Amino acid sequence: MFLVRVLSCVAPVASWVGGTLVFGLIENWIDKTNRSYFADSKTCIVFEGLLSGYFSRSLLEATRFVVVDEIPVPNIPVLKRVMSGGAVGITFKHTYYLAPSVANDPSVHFHELVHVLQWRYLGAKPFIQRYLMETLRHGYRDAPLEVMSYALQKRFEGRGEPFDVESCVHKYLKGLPL
Ligand SMILES: [Zn+2]
Repeated sequence: MFLVRVLSCVAPVASWVGGTLVFGLIENWIDKTNRSYFADSKTCIVFEGLLSGYFSRSLLEATRFVVVDEIPVPNIPVLKRVMSGGAVGITFKHTYYLAPSVANDPSVHFHELVHVLQWRYLGAKPFIQRYLMETLRHGYRDAPLEVMSYALQKRFEGRGEPFDVESCVHKYLKGLPL
């Protein structure tokens, strides 16, 4: 309850960005949420045949997904808006949550796995800060972390040669050409 109250009050204020207390509270909420859904989650190694050319076996083994009727979202207005706008998935660290309508869509799993790599590369608090900043500034679809995920997803959907997604994500985040 305390977390909910703090996030509701603080999130809309521009000066909150940089408040490590808030990002710590969000991370705690995420860890608790992931633990509470663990029994319902499955490992992405089930997609090894489809995605092994794109992601390492260790990443697929370490990542879990949960199909849920209602996607869990921390009480942050910008995220609530994104989810109410029809978003069908969200990634928290090594776990992502999907609506039943997309549970069997390989492109959506691919997209969320790109976010897992972003979380892993940036670290939890920097990812949370950057994602929220970008979404506030640019809107969901034009937030650079989303633009990256959608661009790589499109390349996957093109059904060309498999490519190393992890190295693409690292290059993107370093601002290097692909
Ligand atoms: Zn996304």
